[in-house]
Amino acid sequence: MDSSHPQEQHAETRLVTSGRDTKAQKGFVNPPVFHGSTVLYPTAEDLHAHRGEFTYGRHGSPTTKAFQETLMALEGPQCAGVGIVPSGLSAISTTLLSVLKAGDHILVVDNVYRPTRNFCNGMLTRYGVETTYFDPLIGAGIDKLFKPNTRAVLVEAPGSQSFEMPDIRVIADVAHGRGALVIDDNTWATPLYHRSLEQGVDISMQAATKYIGGHSDIMFGTISANAKAWPMIAEGIRLLGVCAGPDDVFLALRGLRTLSVRLAQHHRSGLEMARWLAARPEVARVLHPGLETDPGHAIWKRDFSGASGLFSIVLKPAPQKAVDTMLNTLKLFGMGFSWGGFESLAIPFDCDAYRTATKWAPGGPTLRLHIGLESTDDLKADLDRGFAALKAAM
Ligand SMILES: *Cc1c(COP(=O)(O)O)cnc(C)c1O
Repeated sequence: MDSSHPQEQHAETRLVTSGRDTKAQKGFVNPPVFHGSTVLYPTAEDLHAHRGEFTYGRHGSPTTKAFQETLMALEGPQCAGVGIVPSGLSAISTTLLSVLKAGDHILVVDNVYRPTRNFCNGMLTRYGVETTYFDPLIGAGIDKLFKPNTRAVLVEAPGSQSFEMPDIRVIADVAHGRGALVIDDNTWATPLYHRSLEQGVDISMQAATKYIGGHSDIMFGTISANAKAWPMIAEGIRLLGVCAGPDDVFLALRGLRTLSVRLAQHHRSGLEMARWLAARPEVARVLHPGLETDPGHAIWKRDFSGASGLFSIVLKPAPQKAVDTMLNTLKLFGMGFSWGGFESLAIPFDCDAYRTATKWAPGGPTLRLHIGLESTDDLKADLDRGFAALKAAM
């Protein structure tokens, strides 16, 4: 391995070294935050030709360029471009509006992030695009769901509540045979642990609000695409006019610089807590593809190089009131949406309320946990207290 060539370097190194132009930054390691709309052109001829590295604030700045170069280096050689959008959901809506048109059909995995489903059922329906949801475990059986107008397949691996693991490689093979694009919501593993563009995905989206930001202090989204899909994404971003505030772009770049150490700790602590919970008498099942007993484990092992800190547990049957008492007792696990920050979280969820292609019947109350960067001893002690309160309230 020749470590002087960026493509030969390990991902950890590329995260640290990419997107740096210290000469342009008068020696400083980080780019400044360019707050800017207007970019001045030196001559009328340059203005007419829109000539210049930067032309208008919405189209990018040295801050966005540094972020894009770093994420591209992480995604690998298949990545032809990275689009910047104001949130994870905006990455999804911008992608779908960029690749679909009236009369198209899209296949969407049934364990998808719920607002993705709302976007398909709401805006896409109004714009004349039909959505069919499919079982995350469908594998090659997805072939029979294709129609002549199926333009794209949207997957999420694993689903961020129920953690079933679709076989993206198999689905991508079928989709490409049918001339459809494959879109992946890669928020859970990030491109550090799941190199989706190398595994048949054409467009890999990130809620960078989560692990890329990493500190629960920004809203941000990214769209990475291969050479086939990038022109559509670039055009969609330009036509829709989406962009992100420069402070958030700067914080997202700062997040990328430390992504590998944070994610390694989330991986370790998450698996340790998952194993500990699997041995608890109050827990019926742990939904974490990194566990050897999980139905998605073989796919995870084949396609992912790590796990994040997000997984779910199914409790043995208990009244919701007792589960609420447990949640109210926890001190280190906060209750709130989002995840991927430094802090641990616990929320109840119920996929049965909205699934259409599959039945969700876990057999007990379900909680989604995010394992943050606290000591796992302290997190176990917190859950110990929570379980004691659960039992006392039954
Ligand atoms: C949070 C999340 C999103 C949306 O991201 P926002 O930045 O909150 O809009 C999309 N997909 C998944 C899997 C998420 O967890």
